[in-house]
Amino acid sequence: MSIALNRRHLVAATAGAAAASLLSVAGCKAAPDMQGGFTGINLARGHLLRDTKAWPAPTVQRKTRVLIAGGGVAGLAAARALRLRGMDDFALLELEDEAGGNARGGSLGGMACPLGAHYLPLPSDDASDVQDLLEELGLRQRVAGRWQYDERHLCHSPQERLFFNGAWQDGLLPVQGVGESTLAQYRAFAALVEQVRKTVHWSIPAYRSPHTPFKQVLAAIPFESWLNQNALTDKYLRWYLDYCCRDDYGAGIVTVSAWAGLHYFASRHGFNAPGAESGEREGLLTWPEGNAWLTRRMAAPLGERLHTGQIVLRIEQGTHGVEVDAFNTASNAVERWQAEQVIVALPVFIAARVLQNPPDFLTQTAARTVHAPWLVANIHIEKPLYDRPGPAPSWDNLIYGDADTAPGLGYVDAMHQSLLPVVGSTVLTYYRALGNVAGGPAQGREWLMKKPWMQWRDEILGELSVAHPDLRQKATRMDITRYGHAMAIPVPDKQGRVGQVPPVFGRIRFAHSDWAGYSVFEEAFALGHLAGSV
Ligand SMILES: Cc1cc2nc3c(=O)[nH]c(=O)nc-3n(C[C@H](O)[C@H](O)[C@H](O)COP(=O)(O)OP(=O)(O)OC[C@H]3O[C@@H](n4cnc5c(N)ncnc54)[C@H](O)[C@@H]3O)c2cc1C
Repeated sequence: MSIALNRRHLVAATAGAAAASLLSVAGCKAAPDMQGGFTGINLARGHLLRDTKAWPAPTVQRKTRVLIAGGGVAGLAAARALRLRGMDDFALLELEDEAGGNARGGSLGGMACPLGAHYLPLPSDDASDVQDLLEELGLRQRVAGRWQYDERHLCHSPQERLFFNGAWQDGLLPVQGVGESTLAQYRAFAALVEQVRKTVHWSIPAYRSPHTPFKQVLAAIPFESWLNQNALTDKYLRWYLDYCCRDDYGAGIVTVSAWAGLHYFASRHGFNAPGAESGEREGLLTWPEGNAWLTRRMAAPLGERLHTGQIVLRIEQGTHGVEVDAFNTASNAVERWQAEQVIVALPVFIAARVLQNPPDFLTQTAARTVHAPWLVANIHIEKPLYDRPGPAPSWDNLIYGDADTAPGLGYVDAMHQSLLPVVGSTVLTYYRALGNVAGGPAQGREWLMKKPWMQWRDEILGELSVAHPDLRQKATRMDITRYGHAMAIPVPDKQGRVGQVPPVFGRIRFAHSDWAGYSVFEEAFALGHLAGSV
């Protein structure tokens, strides 16, 4: 499986040794000819909905049986469910020029890279719809009575490493050189996770397991409070848990609920303390273009039923049908659709804005949903980077540090899965969640809108250069994608709620990861499928 990878890493290591001499000359500035800019998401187009006072009257009339508003994972899953039901008379309207939402892909230097979501953990039986999708796409098949995944798309080894105390170590949990008291806290947390797993069933999608009073109590308090209650105070354990929450939920342990903090582990692989017997890493699927590999295949069968560059402006339900106005950005005209049913696969704050006379459950959900802003930077490098001691370059590479020294979530190597003999040249995809910066998500959004590309570039290069001092010399281009409202943060809820399956509202159904209260592929897909299945 990893012949090409090993060769790449060998070359990287050799080049790394040579590059060690570069260390003394590695300056602080980016290469003068480094290119880049903001890309991937059309912020101006999205904001037209908010800022336009009066839209022109509709000049085009269209008709369809089912109209889907929003072409992210949820909208595409709804379309798939309609197709599986034999329903062909539908249309999907998407704002961007490509469907996929947060799971779209791009390319840099001729290499594919993610613009957002980059992996899918192997789904459990709770996510049977996702399992079916993987089977349809040929990623999973039954061999001699057992399910097998396509090796080409399972994350190749080495999977992940952490830059900690001046060297790389295997895995993301700080282990090298930590004391016995830290290890004892790791074991204590692992035992508590096992205990909560035995108490109730935890599933993804979350709605497939009962939301018991036990979970409600957890959903009402911050994860940090739960850690305090259980005397889990070790700084390395907390750093790791904070990282996990920022990575999955866009905000850390102070901001997310204890339900969310535990769900991360209890619904998947548990928490494996170092030396634990079941220290197997969870299998996951990933591709150079990230989850766009999936969304492009979900969009392909739609053909002309997929209408991109369409801003849904107004949805109004009448006695005999639903009227939807959309601004066509190619023709600069407003088009009026008549549909028997509408599936609203939009973020809840947009759904509440465009739906006329919205039901209380929508306005209330929109009011209490807090969205994390995110930034994704794709960095093209032309030669292998100097590598500090420790395990070889991995798919996921994380740097230990605090909010000032390492505010990001590390980077994944877009060429990691590639079997092409391209040596050295690759795209590193760097992630940063801005859900719990000082000042909150609103501050994060302001930074995204106001900070110039060069400032982000210098911050990101500065952060990663701790592990790769020659990055500035070898990076040729950095393209940055900014998400103002990337994902719902599962914040504590006084009533202990954790998302919901949205009720049907007459001829209108809702589907979006926001309804789950947090955002992963399986949740968006399950809610979309549900909306398209009935
Ligand atoms: C940076 C980042 C990394 C992530 N990484 C992962 C990962 O590795 N694995 C994972 O499982 N999950 C990941 N996620 C979460 C995952 O991407 C989401 O759960 C999923 O893609 C959400 O799909 P959705 O359909 O619910 O929402 P969205 O992606 O928000 O889709 C909504 C769609 O509606 C469109 N739209 C909005 N307004 C309008 C309008 N007025 N008219 C028409 N269309 C409109 C949008 O353009 C968008 O396409 C990540 C998310 C982010 C932001």
